[in-house]
Amino acid sequence: MSDAEAAAGATDEADGDNPPVRRVSDWDAGRLSGLADAHGTPLYVQDLDRVRENCERLLAAFPDADVRYAVKAHTGQAVLETVRDAGLDAECASAGEVDRALAAGFDGSRLHYTAVNPPARDLDYVAGVAEADPDLTVTVGAVDTLDRLAERGYDGRVCVRVNPGVGAGHHEKVTTGGAAKFGVPYDRAAEVTRDAAERFDAVGVHAHAGSGIDPDQLDSHRELVARMGDLARELTDPDAEGAAPLDLEYVDVGGGFGVPYEEDAPALDLRAVADATREAVAPLPEGVDLAIEPGRYVVADAGVLLARVNTVKPTPDETVVGVDAGMTDLLRPAMYDAYHPIRNLGSGRGREGGDAPPVGEREATPVTVAGPICETGDAFCENRALAEPVRGDLLAVGVAGAYGYEMASQYNSRPRPAEVALDDGTATIARRRETLGDLTTVEREIPRDRAGRSEGDR
Ligand SMILES: *Cc1c(COP(=O)(O)O)cnc(C)c1O
Repeated sequence: MSDAEAAAGATDEADGDNPPVRRVSDWDAGRLSGLADAHGTPLYVQDLDRVRENCERLLAAFPDADVRYAVKAHTGQAVLETVRDAGLDAECASAGEVDRALAAGFDGSRLHYTAVNPPARDLDYVAGVAEADPDLTVTVGAVDTLDRLAERGYDGRVCVRVNPGVGAGHHEKVTTGGAAKFGVPYDRAAEVTRDAAERFDAVGVHAHAGSGIDPDQLDSHRELVARMGDLARELTDPDAEGAAPLDLEYVDVGGGFGVPYEEDAPALDLRAVADATREAVAPLPEGVDLAIEPGRYVVADAGVLLARVNTVKPTPDETVVGVDAGMTDLLRPAMYDAYHPIRNLGSGRGREGGDAPPVGEREATPVTVAGPICETGDAFCENRALAEPVRGDLLAVGVAGAYGYEMASQYNSRPRPAEVALDDGTATIARRRETLGDLTTVEREIPRDRAGRSEGDR
């Protein structure tokens, strides 16, 4: 065996300990049932060990890149601390996320704030943070935002967000609709970045396509990355006519690393994506690094949502299974028609031997799993074959760790669920279950100034 083969073998082995995806079927049913019994449902379970594994896989696939966790996928303090310890930076989309990242111990040099149509309040806050910690970087997607930063006395690190205008195979096609909201148009990017460098420390260029990088979409990813490499070379070119070369530190090609939601969908081949990315961005100018911003990939398969079956209603076409979690707990199915795998864990209380046979012996039955919200769209699946659910069963909704709790709301005056973090097997409450009292907190605690005016009056 050659050294290279030996190294490859070692890599495979490492991959064996750290599989590319954790399926809902991989979770320990007894453990999940125990957590549901102990903490009630609906309950999110987020496994920090899996978060760590995902960070490690990313760092191994992109050894020379800056890896920045897009915090919005899951902002829980325990997750942020885990990601920080694993060595990733934090990419924040709001003042609130910057605040959380600071609380989790990220210092300015590891903080990237991406200002998308930023509210004045957010810019005030971030400019204040930057005064104390000038290593923070602001990523800016509009010339207006540069002006608004300058008005606040900010003259620190900026990165320019570019709308690369990449649509499958159509280089010059302008991206339509809401996508124009993100970033300056590609053909103005060089000019805007040079202008930014006059007033700020221009350290990078950035693009985030938004859509999932999955096995079918590598071509458009490659195209985006190549365009960003071109831009970096143009901006740093020492021979460019009439323009001094910029001292860029990085080209950030964003997130969007896909995670398989369907049970039989293949996992992303991260190494292949990394190779394609490196190849497409090359040759990077001296001193310019590649940066990526995975969000979903870090946390999605590290989380499940547990829900208890309340009602089972047979109809001629299908059976409607009512559970105690709904779109207020996990919005993605209602909002994006997103698929989440669902596994029936049975009653979890050893009642299978009584009322119903063990889940393994039940027949697969087409069911709609619906939540308690007064909306037709409040369903996690329709006509899905599950081991026939009975009242009291526990269902695990898989791949719920990204954009799950983050998108939870109190619509229908439903308190948000609890979340348990598993760390080295130990469970701790990461977010307590909200109470009915929490629902009216903001109505009861209206701060008043000395003149008796409430905040809303000012
Ligand atoms: C949301 C977001 C990401 C992460 O996207 P994922 O699909 O979760 O990987 C990265 N960068 C920016 C700027 C984002 O807004």
